[in-house]
Amino acid sequence: MADNITRVSRFGFVNAYLVREDDGLTVVDTMLPRSAKPILAAAQRLGAPIVRIALTHAHGDHIGSLDELAGALPGVEVLISTRDARFLRKDMSLDPGEPQDKLRGGWPGAKTEPTRTLEPGDMVGSLEVVASPGHTPGHVAFLDRRDGTLLAGDAYSTLAGVATAAKANPLFPLVAGATWHRPTALESARALRALDPQRLAPGHGKIVDAPGPAMDRAIAKAS
Ligand SMILES: [Zn+2]
Repeated sequence: MADNITRVSRFGFVNAYLVREDDGLTVVDTMLPRSAKPILAAAQRLGAPIVRIALTHAHGDHIGSLDELAGALPGVEVLISTRDARFLRKDMSLDPGEPQDKLRGGWPGAKTEPTRTLEPGDMVGSLEVVASPGHTPGHVAFLDRRDGTLLAGDAYSTLAGVATAAKANPLFPLVAGATWHRPTALESARALRALDPQRLAPGHGKIVDAPGPAMDRAIAKAS
C-alpha cells in the first residue's frame, strides 16, 4: 500500500501528493487555486510538517495553490525544474534548440520564487528528479527510490484509463490537449516506462499499482 505517499484530490480530478520523509513532508504539486486548505489538512492528519513543495511543471492546475501554500508555510523549500521555473515567472520564451510549437494550457505564473531549481538526477528527499519533457519543456517526474513509486505529473494520466500526454484520451482529453510537443512527450513516456515503476501516481486520476502493462498499452496507442 501507499505507505510513503498520500494522495490529496479535488473532485477526483486533480491531485497533489504528500510524500513522507524523515524530516517532514514533501508536497508534490499544488492543484488549482484555493487548494491549500485540503493539503494542509492532510498534512495535519499525517502529523508531520510540510518542509518542501516540489512541482512537476508550471501549468495552472499544478501550481495553482503555490502562493497560498508557500504563504502559509514560512521557510518552506520550493522546487521546480530550471526550465519550467521560467514559466513560473511568466517568461514564455522558447529556446532556439527547442521545438517552436505553441505552448498550450494555462500558465498563470506565481509570485513565489523557487528556493532551488532542479536538474534531472537531483534528489528531493527520497525522490529522484527524472526528465520527462514534452507536456511542457521542463516537465519532470519524481521516482521514489525507496519503493519505485513514480510521481508522473502529466507525463501519464490515469483518469478514464492510463494514457500518455502524447495522445488524447477521448474520455479525458485535457492532458494531451495541454501538451506542448507530442513526439517529445512520447519519448518521455517510454523513458519513464523503462524505469519499471512499481506504482504510478499521476497528476490526474487514481494511483495505479503494477502499472507496466497499462503503460505499455498507452505507449502503443500513442505510437
Ligand atoms: Zn499539465
